Amino acid sequence: MYRIGIDIGGTNLKAGIVDEKNNLVESTYAPVRKGASPNEIIADACQLAEAAMGLSCISNSEIAGVGISCAGTCDTKTGRVIHAYNLGFENTPVCDLVNFRFHVPAKLANDADAQALAEVRAGSALGMENVLYICLGTGVGVGIIINGGIYSGCGYAGTEAGHMTLILDGEQCTCTESGCFEAYASATALIRQAKKAAASDPGSALNSLKKMGAKDIFGLADAGDETSVRVTKEYIRYLSAGITSLVNIFDPEAVVIGGGVANRGEKLLEPVREYVGKHIFGADSRKAPVITAAGFRDNAGVIGAAMLIKDGTE
Ligand SMILES: [Zn+2]
Repeated sequence: MYRIGIDIGGTNLKAGIVDEKNNLVESTYAPVRKGASPNEIIADACQLAEAAMGLSCISNSEIAGVGISCAGTCDTKTGRVIHAYNLGFENTPVCDLVNFRFHVPAKLANDADAQALAEVRAGSALGMENVLYICLGTGVGVGIIINGGIYSGCGYAGTEAGHMTLILDGEQCTCTESGCFEAYASATALIRQAKKAAASDPGSALNSLKKMGAKDIFGLADAGDETSVRVTKEYIRYLSAGITSLVNIFDPEAVVIGGGVANRGEKLLEPVREYVGKHIFGADSRKAPVITAAGFRDNAGVIGAAMLIKDGTE
């Protein structure tokens, strides 16, 4: 039997067919249509899944279920997305709509949670039971795996570790609070920090960038631009301090870092390891967790979503 994984992001829709060994057999994607209603977005995602089935010549009778990974606040028990502001979802019955189309079980998880599951089942934390997955992108998504399954807390808004306070009364966060981990460790936060530093240093090469992305800022730091070096070092300190707090709470076997910033690889991971190793509670007598980059990149959401079906993890 195969499983369908659907990944509903703020800007892109992806769907794929996953086999019993967690291989992605076929995948399709399309941008989220501007102005589309929640029902239209879900219909588009289902159509992508049907296209993937067509491409791989797999019929409905060979599908065990459909897993859906979605940005935003997900109620895994009822299969509803409570809020996904970028998509206009508001108490949207995603699983019911998908089930109506495919007539097989449908399960829902927050995108960071689904990606975390992909990492422990088939990625960088393969076989590990207690893992933190941290996705550094537009925001900071954190998926927590405890005893091999997704930790969802007592309700749908379970784990939003991106919104733990890092600096009291600090930078404004997208969630209306201030000083959140996300407001310092997301790619968006790095760009904001770089723009601020560039404005007070007219000589910095940062001012010559037409469009500033995390990759460009790290690139200028590599080229020796002092302001970029300072900003990226500071960014890594914020990121590492947040990870240290999470490690102190959860004592995981591994911390897996995903999202666009993770493409920086060892140049990012090495200083994070050094900081965490030095600052975790009981650092002198304690082994720090493995800190590694995600094994999955573009398809983590699709594969993780499909994995929701196999063992009923919610
Ligand atoms: Zn926040």
